Order: sequence, then C-alpha cells, then structure tokens
Amino acid sequence: MVVILLGPPGVGKGTQAVRLADDAGWAHVSTGDLLRAARRDGTELGKRAQTFMDAGELVPDGLILDLVREYLSVLTSGSGILFDGFPRTVAQAEGLAGVLDAVGRRVDRVVVFEAPDETLIKRLSGRRSCPDCGAVFNVHFTPPEVEGVCDRCGAALIHRKDDDPDTVVRRLEVYKEQTAPLIEWYGATEAEQVVIEADRDVDLIYSDFRSAVGLVAT
Ligand code: AMP
Repeated sequence: MVVILLGPPGVGKGTQAVRLADDAGWAHVSTGDLLRAARRDGTELGKRAQTFMDAGELVPDGLILDLVREYLSVLTSGSGILFDGFPRTVAQAEGLAGVLDAVGRRVDRVVVFEAPDETLIKRLSGRRSCPDCGAVFNVHFTPPEVEGVCDRCGAALIHRKDDDPDTVVRRLEVYKEQTAPLIEWYGATEAEQVVIEADRDVDLIYSDFRSAVGLVAT
C-alpha cells in the first residue's frame, strides 16, 4: 500500500504518520525530516535547501526528486509506505509516478487532512519537534511527559524556525497555491481518496486514519 498524506502544514499528518508507522511497521518518508537531517549533517543538499525552508518556500522539485530516489529501496519493499509532505507540486507527483512505475507500484490511496487556518496557526505556534527521531508534540494539545524532552528518544525538543508566525502564514499560502491542486490531480488517477477532518481529538483522527489505509480502526 503506497499512501500519500496531503494537507496543510500543522494539520497533524506528521504526528499521525509517525504513530501509524510505529504501530504497523510501515515506512514513513517525510521529505521535511530528510531535509532537516541534511541540514544538520551539513550536506550540499542541506545547504541548498536552507534558504527556501527558512522562508517557508518550497525547495526546488529537482532536489526533492533526487532525495526521494535515494529511497528506492524503501519503494521496492513489500510493506506499506506513507509519504508525508511529498509530493507538494504536480511536477513532484509526476516524478513519483514515474519512480513507482519503474518498480511496479503506484499510489494506492491519498489521505487528505483538513482543518481551519486558525487551528493550523495555533498548532504550528505550539509545535515542538524532535530533531533526532522526528516525533512531534504540541504544548497546547499533545505535550510531552517532561517539558522540552522527547517521549520517544529523550532528545531535547526544538521550536522550528519555520514555525515562526510570518513564515507560517507564507507556508499556508504556498500550500494553497502549489500543493492543494494535487487533490484534483490525484482525483484523476486510480488512487482512492479519503478526507479526514483533523480538527478533532488525536485518537479519533488516528482511528479514521487507520481505516483510511485499510487497517483495523482502534
Ligand atoms: P515540512 O516539515 O513537511 O512542513 O517541510 C518543511 C519545509 O521543507 C517546507 O516548508 C519546504 O521548505 C521544505 N520541503 C519539505 N518537503 C518538501 C517538498 N516535497 N517539496 C518542496 N519543499 C519541501
């Protein structure tokens, strides 16, 4: 099962993806996490991505597709794959279709997470992320057990620079302009689409998410 998670920044798709990948043993490919890892490691890609990310703009498609192609071994494995934050443009969706086609797979399902802008802004401003394992917490809604410390791996949590208010507004605009059109684009493919109302209790969302990807609801 190849699943694309679509939805604006702050909608909670990363939190849901980490949880499902943990529970079901599926691969979780987050291009945002991969880019942040490249920045931490000081790679050429990380350096090139930095200015785009800090401004809330998209990193160029060519760089993103090269990054995803490095994950070809994940694509050839039999288990489920969750793409989180990728694709974000039609060019990326076309690139992914080509890469999947070459290994005899295709996007099976598109899960669209929706929430009002006010909720997204509150979530992003309260968000704390783990730089080591990618877990995401929120000081308002889903705080870690110990303030500032990751429940999963014990690393110190960070507030991302691109979660600052001005950048958040730009990221929401970029989503509407460049990524939301993918909902229609995938509508014209064989992939089944499921919409999840994400302005609800995190466990209810998770239960719907599991059903949406063909797993038993919790
Ligand atoms: P995310 O953690 O998914 O919200 O991504 C954080 C930032 O990384 C985005 O605002 C973009 O600058 C960059 N980014 C992540 N994934 C992509 C992608 N698929 N295409 C272009 N830029 C991306």
